Amino acid sequence: MLITGSSTGFHIHLAPVACASVPAMTALAANTWDAFAARSLAGEALTRSECLEVLHASEDELLPLLQAAFRVRREYFGRKVHIQVLENAKVGACPEDCGFCSQSAPQGSPAGKEPMQSVESLVESASKAAAIQAKRFCMVTATRGPSERDLDVICEAAKQIKEKYQIELCASLGLLTEAKAKRLAEAGIDRFNHNLETSENYYDKVVTTHSWADRVNTVKLAKASGMETCCGGIVGLGESEEDLIDLVFALRELEVDSVPVNFLDPRPGTALAAHQRINPRYALRALCLFRFLCPKADVRIAGGREVNLRSLQPLALYPANSMFTSGYLTTGGNAPTDDMQMIADAGFELEFDGIEPDLSAAARRVSLPVVSPSAN
Ligand code: SF4
Repeated sequence: MLITGSSTGFHIHLAPVACASVPAMTALAANTWDAFAARSLAGEALTRSECLEVLHASEDELLPLLQAAFRVRREYFGRKVHIQVLENAKVGACPEDCGFCSQSAPQGSPAGKEPMQSVESLVESASKAAAIQAKRFCMVTATRGPSERDLDVICEAAKQIKEKYQIELCASLGLLTEAKAKRLAEAGIDRFNHNLETSENYYDKVVTTHSWADRVNTVKLAKASGMETCCGGIVGLGESEEDLIDLVFALRELEVDSVPVNFLDPRPGTALAAHQRINPRYALRALCLFRFLCPKADVRIAGGREVNLRSLQPLALYPANSMFTSGYLTTGGNAPTDDMQMIADAGFELEFDGIEPDLSAAARRVSLPVVSPSAN
């Protein structure tokens, strides 16, 4: 076998031997993916040509590729799946112009506008997340960065939630200063989310009101304050494969703890409204790439998963170890019970962090039937 790289991709040339059948090709590819998994587990990055090879895996190679990504995922997370719930604490009217976002005021804020929630309503939402055994509760505001008043609300809610529930807290509030990052960390925010969204090269094609470097700086400030960092991006913005690879390498370099992988769900009224959704098999190959290059990170299937992965959603649990449930900031999603059933059906386990789940309490509080996570 001769493997060569080129600007258009990565090619495997098979010697014309008598047994060069389709099963033999698949076996050869499986060895390639296994080698990638072994190198990922050893802490080695793939080369850019190898990253392209992952993104170009054929349909015959998809299951062996997923199996190799699962080897890496299993090493750090076993068969556990963390579920996470988002709470949009302040909706819309954001001054930034991110072309994919329906909360952007320059694009007319098609998702609508709602003022900052009260401390009480955030605590109430956190109680619902705790009831479905979500590992984390994430409070999100549509802002360039948090005002002092926003910080007052988020910090007070964080203190009260931590007193009442055993749930980790994440906040996503836009750009930070050093002082704001410190305040959030001191209030009990465990993890701060700020996505890079796409590559440095492609960023100004979708956002002009702040730079990619601004985003990187906030991630570094969050990390320096002692919070864990959650930082990912969106696949399907029109970026090239090279851009996607750049993004994944940037996340690897930042050593982020958690990588939410969103898939563009084009929102009416936004600059990217006419974009096509991506192919679900490409979404799976992209997730494998994130896993190989960020082997120890929580790789989380995030916004747009239902409409981009469609019937292949369960396969995403092989590279990814985490997922959002109950919808996203401006779009609906699967109900928690459906996601819990999918996790159980695929033979994965919900993450409970050692807390015995009170399923009857969960059923009472969210008024939904709750399946046993261990049901077959
Ligand atoms: S992605 Fe965030 S910063 Fe950009 S417009 Fe939407 S809410 Fe504002």
